[in-house]
Amino acid sequence: MTQKSTTQTGSKMTQTDILIVGAGPTGLAHALWLTKQGLKVRIIDKSSGPGETSRAMAVQARTLEFYRQLDMTDAVVSAGYKTPAMNMWVRGKRQAQVKLLDAGQEISPYPFVLVYPQDRHERLLVDRLQSLGIEVERQTELVSFEDKGDKVTALLKHKDGQEETCQALYLAGCDGARSPIRHQIGSGFEGGTYKQVFYVADVVATGVNPAGEAQIAFEKSEFILMMPYTNTNQYRLIGIVRDERAEHPENLTFEDVGHEAIKALNIKIEQVNWFSTYRVHHRVTDHFRKGRVFLLGDAAHVHSPAGGQGMNTGIMDAINLAWKLAAVVKGQAPDSLLDSYETERQAFAYTLVETTDRLFTFATAEGNFAEFVRNRISPLFISVAYKLESVREYMFRVVSQTTLSYHKSPLSIGKAGSVHGGDRLPWVPFSGNDNYDSLSTIQWQVHVYGEPKPDLKTWCDQHKLPLHTFAWQSAYQKAGLAQDATYLLRPDTYIALADPEGSVATLDQYFNERGINFNL
Ligand SMILES: Cc1cc2nc3c(=O)[nH]c(=O)nc-3n(C[C@H](O)[C@H](O)[C@H](O)COP(=O)(O)OP(=O)(O)OC[C@H]3O[C@@H](n4cnc5c(N)ncnc54)[C@H](O)[C@@H]3O)c2cc1C
Repeated sequence: MTQKSTTQTGSKMTQTDILIVGAGPTGLAHALWLTKQGLKVRIIDKSSGPGETSRAMAVQARTLEFYRQLDMTDAVVSAGYKTPAMNMWVRGKRQAQVKLLDAGQEISPYPFVLVYPQDRHERLLVDRLQSLGIEVERQTELVSFEDKGDKVTALLKHKDGQEETCQALYLAGCDGARSPIRHQIGSGFEGGTYKQVFYVADVVATGVNPAGEAQIAFEKSEFILMMPYTNTNQYRLIGIVRDERAEHPENLTFEDVGHEAIKALNIKIEQVNWFSTYRVHHRVTDHFRKGRVFLLGDAAHVHSPAGGQGMNTGIMDAINLAWKLAAVVKGQAPDSLLDSYETERQAFAYTLVETTDRLFTFATAEGNFAEFVRNRISPLFISVAYKLESVREYMFRVVSQTTLSYHKSPLSIGKAGSVHGGDRLPWVPFSGNDNYDSLSTIQWQVHVYGEPKPDLKTWCDQHKLPLHTFAWQSAYQKAGLAQDATYLLRPDTYIALADPEGSVATLDQYFNERGINFNL
């Protein structure tokens, strides 16, 4: 994978297409998608092995949809745990139960909330990468780098102290919230830090009722979230450290944190396998791209864990950038295509930080009025609202990231039916199959629901652009798709162009205006 020579000073000199710094979930996903598209990658990490703590738990439906492109979805779903329901408790009484297993059954092939701890998830990604012939280079640190205009020169330091100069066409900064790469390119990280300190613990608990379901409990000013891993009494607890104890969280143990909400659930903690405290920030970086350097994942945005979005968003950054880098490195698109990475992902990061901030502030606000609204009004509202299918669906759409669209992107054009350029393709199941089957390859493609125009078939044949036609049925109309329209899909499966006329001239124009030639 790596070409080697020697510098004048005798240190090793290597070359690669993309140097990925950081082998967390973001870097690993980026390496997988780039390798799958034929690019030469190196992925380095200064740590000696993958993370060993559970951290991010939820794998959202949109991530599972993308994992079809690497044939990983079944492995993740079967290794994870589908949370059957979430119960909401206030002062020892269950106020609401929300069924989660089929909340998105009209929206996604993965209509549930899947819990799959980050440490296991990372190991699965590492294994997949190995099966593609790529090893994570551990105990290898990025020391510094220089953007030379036509490449990036990076100084790496190995475990044995040896230094290496690696020349890469592009540098992918997947180096986490403290990102040395972000610091070196001088990109700000605006936002703030919540005054509350979180604690997380992996526990074995008995007496949970109903067992194996998620529980959220509010008790005076305390709150606790319990997520089951499996149906064998293993749970992840998340809570807040209150009062003066928050000033020195590094000295706390599980026994020190408030136990009122735990007591109110009437459960017994049998064993604490892992306990940690951490401060939560809400920040987005000013630049996702500077020259040949990109920021992805926590290096670019951090927010509260409310809603389980962090890791999923990093993985989606990785997928968004990977097809663009592949096109540019292969000479199929101009460098300007890469600017759309910042346009698309930064806008989403701002929205995400705002939403999680609202949720977090609601869950943690202090004072009598805040407690009254949170503990008395909202459970009533939720228990009524969640019985409405439309509310359940809406909540699923938001949390699962299936509503994420790129309407303001220069890559998004047109509208056919109620589907716009920049939208996620609506998912439509039919007789044991669905219209997502063709999305398992990473390539441009056209979908027509109904009859394609004859010249469209010829054009697609000539340009070797896969054309998928689906016999018209009312389910497509219900999903917002227009009969006989052309939907051009990007390699990351978002709709680039929605053309109700289904004309080849608009397809031609789309690619010509952007200088994209995917056949090169
Ligand atoms: C205690 C805890 C609990 C969490 N709980 C949740 C949760 O419930 N839900 C949720 O969505 N998220 C949660 N998160 C956040 C989630 O873990 C992150 O969003 C996710 O790990 C981000 O992935 P990443 O790949 O972008 O960065 P990271 O996982 O931080 O990976 C960055 C990697 O870069 C490496 N690196 C850094 N600098 C260099 C260098 N100079 N050279 C080489 N390598 C370098 C690091 O060693 C690290 O392995 C939690 C985080 C913590 C710490």
